[in-house]
Amino acid sequence: MGMNDLKLNDEAGRLRALMRYSVLDTPPEEKFESIVELVKQTLNVPMCAVTFIDRDRQWIKAERGVGGREMPRSLSFCSHAIKRAEPFVVPDATTHPLFSDNALVTGAPFIRSYLGIPLQTSDGYQIGSLCVIDTRPREFAEAEIALLSRFASLVVENLELRMIATTDALTGLRTRRDWQEQVRREIALSARSGRPLSVAIMDIDHFKAVNDTYGHRTGDLLLSEVARVLLNRLRATDLVGRLGGEEFAVALPETTADEAREVVERVRLAVARIETSSPEAPTVRCTISGGIAQLQDGETLDALCNRADHALYTAKGDGRNRLACALPQGRTKEICT
Ligand code: GH3
Ligand code: MG
Ligand code: MG
Repeated sequence: MGMNDLKLNDEAGRLRALMRYSVLDTPPEEKFESIVELVKQTLNVPMCAVTFIDRDRQWIKAERGVGGREMPRSLSFCSHAIKRAEPFVVPDATTHPLFSDNALVTGAPFIRSYLGIPLQTSDGYQIGSLCVIDTRPREFAEAEIALLSRFASLVVENLELRMIATTDALTGLRTRRDWQEQVRREIALSARSGRPLSVAIMDIDHFKAVNDTYGHRTGDLLLSEVARVLLNRLRATDLVGRLGGEEFAVALPETTADEAREVVERVRLAVARIETSSPEAPTVRCTISGGIAQLQDGETLDALCNRADHALYTAKGDGRNRLACALPQGRTKEICT
């Protein structure tokens, strides 16, 4: 990527680019841990970190010697690094106009020197930085800067691979693995806050017949159309995934089963209005069935999804193109035919 492609003055675009990676507030991951460990050893520094610059904060994905995951953006050195096209070197923070009165310089951990390489996405946004920090003034040699730059490229490559693994190629929805991981976190949040959370599992009706009649390509087209309806009809905070084949799932935070039923009913009606045409087929339509369950006290993701699945099975058995709601006792009740 040449410097010409850098987008240094598009903060809204930069934040959207950052959000695409779904990396903020996620647990430590081995790949990033290895990189900071290697950086700390090879550059012989007491502190290093992979940081991401959110709207108002710096969030740390991996670190050595820093401690803590989050700080206000106003204190962050990396927040300045991402505004530059070049590696950002601060040989002595105590004499630097931007940092001489920074609380991390005047107080613990008494930062003296800093080198930050912006993490640049393939579309030219700088979303964070790989940085090393020392408690003594220090110059960084060209070779050290080059080395850290190579490690920064590895960080970005890992981010890209991670995104591919969490995004379904056909539909752009979350993969099963990623959906489950994100929903487990929502369940933990819901358990703490006492707020409701509901899950709906949806499956396209008689989808095999679409493939058999019009071919796999038309089937794929229909799958992406259904995914688009899901994304359009649901809130940004709802988690939408493709569990596999022609099966989709949505987790709705802060939503009871009754409220979820209304939302998913609108999805069901919108899917029924899809008309896909392809070279192999004039007009293809489809319907979906869905099962809905609201999280119960102490319930695991697996148990919650089992109840939603069982409700889906009921909806299929009762004639398809309808929803069913799991009752708390584990029985199911058909609704919204
Ligand atoms: P039901 O109403 O009971 O759900 O019937 P169904 O035909 O949808 O159910 P079944 O599970 O028997 O068939 C699902 C079909 O989905 C089988 C497979 O050919 C098709 N399928 C799974 N993944 C894909 C995909 O990625 N692309 C396409 N085109 N078809 C897929
Ligand atoms: Mg099906
Ligand atoms: Mg199926």
